[in-house]
Amino acid sequence: MKASKMLIPTLKEAPNEAIIASHIYLIRAGMIRKLVAGVYNFLPLGIRVLHKVENIIREEMDNSGAQEILSSAIQPKELWELSGRWQKYGPELMRFKDRHDREFCLGPTHEEIFTDLVKNEVKSYKNLPLNIYQIQTKYRDELRPRFGLMRGREFIMKDAYSFDIDLKGLDVSYQNMYETYQRIFDRLHLKYKVVLADTGAIGGSESHQFMALSEVGESSIIYCDNCHYAADEEKAESLDDDYKNNEKELPLEEVNTPNQMTIEEVSNFLNVSTKDVVKTMVYKANNEFVLVLVRGDREVNEIKVCNALKVAEHELMLASKEEIAKLGSVEGYVGPCNINARILVDNEVAKMKNIIVGANKKDYHLKNVNINRDFVGEISNLRTAKENDLCPICKNPLKSERGIEVGQIFKLKTKYSESMGCTYLKEDGSNVPMMMGCYGIGVTRTLASIVEQYHDENGIIWPLNVAPYHTVIIPIRYQNEQQELADEIYKKLQEKHVEVILDDRNVQAGVKFKDWDLIGIPMQITIGKRATEGIVEFKLRNENQKKELTVAEAIDFIVDKVNKESR
Ligand code: ATP
Ligand code: MG
Repeated sequence: MKASKMLIPTLKEAPNEAIIASHIYLIRAGMIRKLVAGVYNFLPLGIRVLHKVENIIREEMDNSGAQEILSSAIQPKELWELSGRWQKYGPELMRFKDRHDREFCLGPTHEEIFTDLVKNEVKSYKNLPLNIYQIQTKYRDELRPRFGLMRGREFIMKDAYSFDIDLKGLDVSYQNMYETYQRIFDRLHLKYKVVLADTGAIGGSESHQFMALSEVGESSIIYCDNCHYAADEEKAESLDDDYKNNEKELPLEEVNTPNQMTIEEVSNFLNVSTKDVVKTMVYKANNEFVLVLVRGDREVNEIKVCNALKVAEHELMLASKEEIAKLGSVEGYVGPCNINARILVDNEVAKMKNIIVGANKKDYHLKNVNINRDFVGEISNLRTAKENDLCPICKNPLKSERGIEVGQIFKLKTKYSESMGCTYLKEDGSNVPMMMGCYGIGVTRTLASIVEQYHDENGIIWPLNVAPYHTVIIPIRYQNEQQELADEIYKKLQEKHVEVILDDRNVQAGVKFKDWDLIGIPMQITIGKRATEGIVEFKLRNENQKKELTVAEAIDFIVDKVNKESR
């Protein structure tokens, strides 16, 4: 393609809201443009990259035995009512009515649709197992769409759904997808970690996330260097500390703590460690008050609270000062004794003796409080695991790293097939629900993650197999001998099926170099003074060194590299 005919609107500056490399460079390189918050148009160079990423995913999915279909983004409310998610999904679900007042949503994910499809089309064990997938546009009215393609309200996902006759079959399908995802992210040259994950709004039992490693990732990965434990922060657990586990229970005592409201203030005032004080957070979940207790130096993990309460994330809210008052307590002085609320206790706190908590009375705390003597609660793991906490498997100090969730796989079991009646006829004549798994890759987010891992101060450095074009020919001045040589190389490379751009634009050479570095074309041929001798300058985008080559050498090198690396 000749650059003069292409739509490549590169920019010197990115909009202020763009603060991460992928957002800045994809816009500056003229690959994407924002339409409204979280909604983007793909321009010619951007769509070429997108198609290449999609095709790598498609090839590996096909090789795994999965079959591609395409379903609509429009989904009827009735199916979501069958699964119980019309209520549960909350404000992220984009809902609308047609002219007959019938209700629909724009699919944020497709469990309901695929389950319904298979329910109608597959009746017998003879047609199982089955794995069907699509690469399709999803809609989620995210609270905070941001970081360009990373968190959009419209984005492209590859979603696959497996249907098996039993748990053993599901395990095989799940493992198959796990390994397929590894092949996909390996081929996309991403550095990533696979971690244990919470199942969130999708549901099910077991789940893993694929995290592209990046400082700008919104996810926090907790992992152990010693054993293979690695989990998303939402899911990660750490070993319970045995602090204050073996003390003798002392008599309950009320202490005056005037104006001492925070954990820091109370522990300073009473001259104890923050570990001696227990934090009581007050939440409202579906109009029910819930107290959550974690040790003073720990944080509450709200995902774990939601799981313990079996509510969706959007159904859990921190109680206001006024609501705490209604509960008969005082902000800053809340505690688990003599209060009419559901009480959740982190298992570490449950093992502690003689803790300090709020007295539900202004300016007072209680000392030497003991579970089961002074209050009761439901015990589970509710705290956030942090770096340097101990590994729950091998007791080594845990580490943490930031990641971008590019994919997630789930064992759904019969969560959807049961409620939606997706059953099959067994050999013995009985009808039972199918065992399902579901598997997602954020295609557009993956594309942005590649940019996060492959860029420098001048722009993007695409791996060859996802680059919009393999190579660009840059004549300093597209005239006379330079033009002749450029045209000749252009033709030869095209004949060898190299994806090549000829920069025939009438602009300064410096502008051309800047543009192609920004766009990230992996191989660049500059044609200058030595054109008459058949000598060109050759540069790889990921190396700064230019070297002089004969035309034949340059072409051979490029063709060889394309043959080796473009898959
Ligand atoms: P997140 O926790 O980041 O909101 P999720 O866990 O809700 O994501 P899934 O339901 O697992 O997302 O969707 C499958 C994949 O789709 C994710 O792993 C992610 O790569 C991608 N994805 C999810 N939400 C978005 C979004 N708003 N914009 C772009 N990609 C997304
Ligand atoms: Mg996810």
